[in-house]
Amino acid sequence: MKTSTVKTNNNIESKEIVHDNPLLEFQSILKDAIQILNHPTVVYELLKEPIRFLEVRIPVRMDDNSTKVFYGYRAQHNDATGPTKGGIRFHPNVTPEEVKALSAWMSMKCGITGLPYGGAKGGIICDPRTMSLRELEALSRGYVRAISQIVGPTKDIPAPDVYTNSQIMAWMLDEYDHIREFDSPSFITGKPIALGGSKGRETATSKGLFYITQLISELLQISLKDMKIIVQGFGNVGSYLALYLHQLGAKVVGISDVLGGVYDENGLDIPYLIEKRDSFGVVSNLFNNTISNMELLEKECDVLIPAALGGQITESNADNLKCKIVVEAANGPTTGEAAKILAEREILVVPDILANSGGVIVSYFEWCQNNQGYYWTEEEVDQKLKEKMTTSFWKVVETSKKYNVSLKVAAYIIGIDTLVESSRLRGWITV
Ligand code: GLU
Repeated sequence: MKTSTVKTNNNIESKEIVHDNPLLEFQSILKDAIQILNHPTVVYELLKEPIRFLEVRIPVRMDDNSTKVFYGYRAQHNDATGPTKGGIRFHPNVTPEEVKALSAWMSMKCGITGLPYGGAKGGIICDPRTMSLRELEALSRGYVRAISQIVGPTKDIPAPDVYTNSQIMAWMLDEYDHIREFDSPSFITGKPIALGGSKGRETATSKGLFYITQLISELLQISLKDMKIIVQGFGNVGSYLALYLHQLGAKVVGISDVLGGVYDENGLDIPYLIEKRDSFGVVSNLFNNTISNMELLEKECDVLIPAALGGQITESNADNLKCKIVVEAANGPTTGEAAKILAEREILVVPDILANSGGVIVSYFEWCQNNQGYYWTEEEVDQKLKEKMTTSFWKVVETSKKYNVSLKVAAYIIGIDTLVESSRLRGWITV
C-alpha cells in the first residue's frame, strides 16, 4: 500500500491511501463466484476485464496560459445486457486498473439491481481541488470530445463519481449536444434538474445506503436507534447518509474528510456540520481535536461506513476494527485480504456493489424520464428506489444462504448470472 500527498483548495496537505490493484481484487472474487456456479473458464475470460478500454490525452489551457495535458480513461465492461453505464471520477490517484475494476463493479451493480445496463466507468488524472472552475469546464468538455465516439444515450451513459458533480455533468451534456447537433439529455445522468436531471438523484446513493443500513438492522434485529455509527468521508454520499441516520435517531459518533476525522462518543451535530462543510466535504478544520482517517476507522462503533475512497480497510488495520458491521459506501473500500480477516472475526461486510447501488438506480430512473420526456415526483423516485434496494438486498441475503457464502460473493453470483445469461442468449458463449 502506498500513500500520496494531496492539497486541498486552501493548500492544506493531507495523505490519502492509494488503492493497490482493484482489478486483481475484482478478478479474485470473480474466480471464486464462477467456481461456485460451476461455469466454464470462458466465463472468466469474458468477464475478467472490460470489453473496451479507451485512453485519451486532453490538452487544457490553464489560467496561467500554460497548456497541461491530462490523461483520461473510459472502460466499458460488458454490453450484453444493454448500453453501459457508470460515473466519471476526477482524482489524482486514478489509474487504468482502477477504472477497469470500477467498470466491472458497475456491471455487478446493474445485474444485482436488475437494471438493463452493463457497467462502465471513466476517470481523469487531475486534482480538481487545485483547479479553477474555468479549467474544470475546459477539462470536462475536452474529455467528452475525446470519448464522444464510444458514448451516447444508447451506447454508454456517464454520470458523476468521486469529485464530479451536476455542474460537470451539465458542461459535458452541453459539449455532447454541440457535437451531435441535437438535444440528448439521456446521454448523461446526475444532471441539474433544470437540464433534465431527476428529483432525488443528488441524494440517491445515500438514501440507498440508508435503506440498506435499515434492512441490516432488521436482519440482525438491532434497532438503528441503539447503534453507534462512524461514517468515513463527508462528501455527497457520506454527509447525506450521516444526516439520514442522525434523523432516525442513530448516534453518528465519527465522521471524516480528506484532512482528518472527528470522534465523539456522545454523537456529533450532523445538521450543523453539513451547513459548515465546503464543496469538497471538508469540515474537520472546524475542530481542534482531530484524528487521522486511519485512527477513525479503528474507533469503537457498531457500524463502520467507509464512504471515501477504495482500499481503506486492509490487512494492516482489519484486525483492529472495533465495529460489528461494515457497510461499504465507497467503491472497493475493503481489500480481499481484509475481507478474510473480517470474516474470521465475524464482522459482517455489506458489499459496495449492493449497498451503494442507489446512485445508479436513480440514474436509470433519470434516463427513463429523459427518454419519456415525462418527469416523476420526488416521492415516486424514492418509493421506486426503496423497492429496488429492498428486493436486491433480500436477493443477496437469500443467495448467500443458498450457497453458504459471504454477502459479497453472493452479490457477485447474482451479477455474473445476468451477464452470463445475456451473453449466452446473444450467442457469445455456450454455457
Ligand atoms: N458513480 C456512481 C457509482 O459508482 C453512479 C453511477 C451512475 O449513476 O451511473 O455507482
